[in-house]
Amino acid sequence: MAEFTSLYSGSSGNCSVIRCGKRYLLVDMGKSCRTTLAGLKELGLAVGDCDGILVTHEHSDHVKGLTVFLHKYSLPVYGAADTLDMLLQNRILPEQTDACALGGARTEEVGAFGVEMFPTSHDVPCVGYRVHTPDGRVMAIATDLGVLTPAVHAALAGCGLVALESNYDLHMLRTGPYPYYLRTRIESTRGHLSNDECSAKLLELIQGGCNKFALCHLSQENNTPELALRTVFNMLTAADVVPGPECVVQAQRRSEVSPILEF
Ligand SMILES: [Zn+2]
Ligand SMILES: [Zn+2]
Repeated sequence: MAEFTSLYSGSSGNCSVIRCGKRYLLVDMGKSCRTTLAGLKELGLAVGDCDGILVTHEHSDHVKGLTVFLHKYSLPVYGAADTLDMLLQNRILPEQTDACALGGARTEEVGAFGVEMFPTSHDVPCVGYRVHTPDGRVMAIATDLGVLTPAVHAALAGCGLVALESNYDLHMLRTGPYPYYLRTRIESTRGHLSNDECSAKLLELIQGGCNKFALCHLSQENNTPELALRTVFNMLTAADVVPGPECVVQAQRRSEVSPILEF
């Protein structure tokens, strides 16, 4: 059995754990080293059992904790070459960091795990990850994407768990406090995924047999966990789809460790 756990999720910071037995991977570290270590401690995880940190992109809500963390602990950092170069140039990754560029479009070994990187459509170079655990499970994580491209559809297919962005409710975004340029950016194909877009994909994945879902990166201003979950429920109801009892759809918590999802 493998586990996915979000330590924190949203525009104030993102970090999650993919675990199998004693070994685990981290995806992003957008809050402080101290907050991240507190989350790992809550889960009973030792830094020494981490096989590496996968970075999705350069935005601070995904990398803010890395500098201090990597000065304290030497763990390999994986990601797209462009992103790693940018992070090294800007000293977000300390000079001595073991930065490993992934090629994409093939599965590469990261410690005990197999990791496949896929591009997502965002306003800076950005990727998601499809991870094969040592016990043969598969999951995918995709946050910070304005649209579901064929590469994302392919990466999410056949997974036991999918962690997908459900960033905003369209009505809240359009009637909320955000200025026009920001709203346009979020809604664009290089911005973020709405509850409607996420739910439509979940419906398709549930019909395809996937039954564990983490709704990630919920906006504080333009979304609520209840609204994101209700959108999924309404989408399933409208399609007359009744998920099995083992199906779990969980909105990830902004500033706390979310309940562990097994897959
Ligand atoms: Zn983000
Ligand atoms: Zn971003």
